[in-house]
Amino acid sequence: MKADLFLLKYGELALKGLNKPIFEKKLLDNIKARLKKIGNFNVFAAQSTIYVEGTDGADADETLESLKKVFGVANICPAVRCAKTLDDIEKTAVECLKEEDLEGKTFKVEAKREDKSFPLNSPALAAEMGGRILSHFPRLKVDVHNPDITVMVEIRRDAFVYTKKIKGAGGMPVGTNGKATILLSGGIDSPVAGYMIAKRGVRLEAVHFHSHPYTSDRAKEKVLDLAKIMTDYCGNMRVHIIPFTDIQLEIIDKCPKVLLTVIMRRMMMRIAQIVAEKTGGQALITGESIGQVASQTMESLNATNSVVTLPVFRPLIGMDKEEIVKISKEIGTYETSILPYEDCCTIFVPKHPKTKPTIEELVEAEKLYENFEEMLKTAVENEEVIKVGE
Ligand code: ATP
Ligand code: MG
Repeated sequence: MKADLFLLKYGELALKGLNKPIFEKKLLDNIKARLKKIGNFNVFAAQSTIYVEGTDGADADETLESLKKVFGVANICPAVRCAKTLDDIEKTAVECLKEEDLEGKTFKVEAKREDKSFPLNSPALAAEMGGRILSHFPRLKVDVHNPDITVMVEIRRDAFVYTKKIKGAGGMPVGTNGKATILLSGGIDSPVAGYMIAKRGVRLEAVHFHSHPYTSDRAKEKVLDLAKIMTDYCGNMRVHIIPFTDIQLEIIDKCPKVLLTVIMRRMMMRIAQIVAEKTGGQALITGESIGQVASQTMESLNATNSVVTLPVFRPLIGMDKEEIVKISKEIGTYETSILPYEDCCTIFVPKHPKTKPTIEELVEAEKLYENFEEMLKTAVENEEVIKVGE
């Protein structure tokens, strides 16, 4: 693909009111951070458009792929730069159109004249270019109301021509809607859950429970790999690796086996909340979906919910596994998620977990595990924090 620069359009909704400058500034910062690994870019906003110009010949396809993952961008238009003369604009527009399949298509030209010293005004420029383009492609037809192809010409410091509008990631810029703490396992669901909340502009901080030596270093690496893939969308992220073995062994030792999984999940939620409080997290996120496994029945969800005061976001709650898998393939986490490393939840699973535990019996069971609050604090004190992403 040939593109000298990209023009990014954002959704209308987020533009309203006083939030616009904050929204725009965050989006610019996020784009700059995301493109750092590709090359040097000029990134600036003008008239509700963001301009992304490579300054040292960065690969256009790679740049586009990266921009497609930035939340807050509704559309991306790869544009070609040319001199501000009618002949040059014509030549560039013709080259752009040659890349399109024109058979039976209709088109129109739209012009924007930011540089008022340009001799033709916008409607006159559009009409002039329309005529010139037709002389090159006599079978093209003009349709000003509902064209298949819109040739855009913008007259600024230079002239820009573009014909393509590529769908962006949508959503809102990460960082414009606070911060949440995601319980990130190595499975399929939680990375998708994190992606969905980040799409609404929420910055993520991840917590992973590791049961060394029952879970291997490979299992930990897998979670970090998943977090790394997520950062293409969510921006950089810290992953708190929490040593969970001692807590699990205590639960096995002290509590009824049939309640093991739910008590373990309650301990995870409590720890996640401690991490959230320490790092400014305003909510917890999990990858749970109603009824998917024994620990995700309505009763179990209530039981895990009731030990924390922060809101718990479960964006996958009403989704089928198939729908979740589809998103995980789209965002590129699936292949890593299905690697067969054990998770701390799967190594100590009771044969017959209780699917309908009551909160009262859980509270009673946890009394047998007297000093758990202390152990939770110790686990957080012994966390390993790893930064992933830019
Ligand atoms: P996932 O595919 O996200 O692992 P799951 O279907 O395997 O989900 P569970 O194992 O019951 O379901 O876990 C439910 C949720 O609890 C996960 O989505 C995740 O948010 C959290 N969770 C589970 N295990 C861990 C872990 N080891 N570290 C951090 N969070 C975890
Ligand atoms: Mg899991």
